[in-house]
Amino acid sequence: MKSGKLIVLTGPSGVGKGTLVRSLLMRHPELHLSVSVTTRGPRQGEIDGQHYYFVSRSRFEEMVEAGELVEWAEFAGNFYGTPYFALQRGIEAGKLVLLEIELEGARQIRDKFPEALRIFILPPSWEELERRLRSRGLDSESAITRRLLRAKAEIEAAGEFDFQVINDDLEVALKGLESVLTVEC
Ligand code: ADP
Ligand code: 5GP
Repeated sequence: MKSGKLIVLTGPSGVGKGTLVRSLLMRHPELHLSVSVTTRGPRQGEIDGQHYYFVSRSRFEEMVEAGELVEWAEFAGNFYGTPYFALQRGIEAGKLVLLEIELEGARQIRDKFPEALRIFILPPSWEELERRLRSRGLDSESAITRRLLRAKAEIEAAGEFDFQVINDDLEVALKGLESVLTVEC
């Protein structure tokens, strides 16, 4: 694998992006995860600076104004963005930098960094996506509804991405991601 490349992982909420990223990071120390800022409150077990930097809406707006974010988007009632500093450390260390972000942000990355590798994670079915979102048990019913509404538009855009990986069996999906990274990076 060559280094200093951005890898964007996108897919509907609940498809298993976080689960895949955690497994990839354990297996591949050459990957650097970009930690985003968000105005969403922490879920149970989430740690500030590790899962996200949790910030107020006014702090987020300040970061946007100051040009500190590479990309940002609103998602299901909250703001999310990638700070330049989150990429910098990985790039300076010559690592592959992984961004786990939604569709609008992925489009902004494509415009700024056309050489970034962009991968879309698909669910095996709509029913399974809904089941996973609910079984995670960490979002309110209204948040789940907002996420499912957004999921339809996201899935329709999967063809914009360089690669699509179906997360049915986790191990098979991981192998699929690993082979894309081995060939492309
Ligand atoms: P995302 O980060 O895309 O929102 P998560 O990684 O939080 O999704 O996964 C949503 C739920 O689906 C979690 O409960 C997770 O354990 C489960 N999950 C993830 N991948 C699979 C899979 N391949 N098969 C079954 N369940 C999965
Ligand atoms: P969650 O609230 O489930 O952690 O994330 C909601 C959505 O926001 C997911 O699709 C996730 O990929 C996306 N997301 C997380 N960080 C960022 C970011 O920095 N920028 C953008 N555009 N989306 C993000």
